[in-house]
Amino acid sequence: MEENEKGLPKKILIVEDNQDSRELVVKILKNRGYQLIEAVDGEDALEKAITERPDLILMDISIPKIDGYEVTRMLKSRKEFKYTPIIALTAHAMKGDREKAMESGCEGYIAKPINIHELPEQIKPYLKEK
Ligand code: MN
Repeated sequence: MEENEKGLPKKILIVEDNQDSRELVVKILKNRGYQLIEAVDGEDALEKAITERPDLILMDISIPKIDGYEVTRMLKSRKEFKYTPIIALTAHAMKGDREKAMESGCEGYIAKPINIHELPEQIKPYLKEK
């Protein structure tokens, strides 16, 4: 099990407005022993990130109120999030999405639909570096 410096399971914030997708990610990652926090839109994401201080953020880009790129920009402008990995989740397999995610400050990018078998391995490297 992945633990943080306090010996507690690592905390992951999943930002996703689609309930089914969100619950699927929660289920898979809770099974792997992680602590999960959920946010349903951009404002909720900012609030939960600031109050919960997750070890990793999975950020859907298309979310209500404030999009995922902007939320990432806002978080990365705060020094406490400088080393918090933010991984963009986007359904648009459009060229330039990866660049846009990186420009906004995301450390990584996962194209949707999420592969439930690959997700735990995809996030692992981001939880190691601190
Ligand atoms: Mn969405």
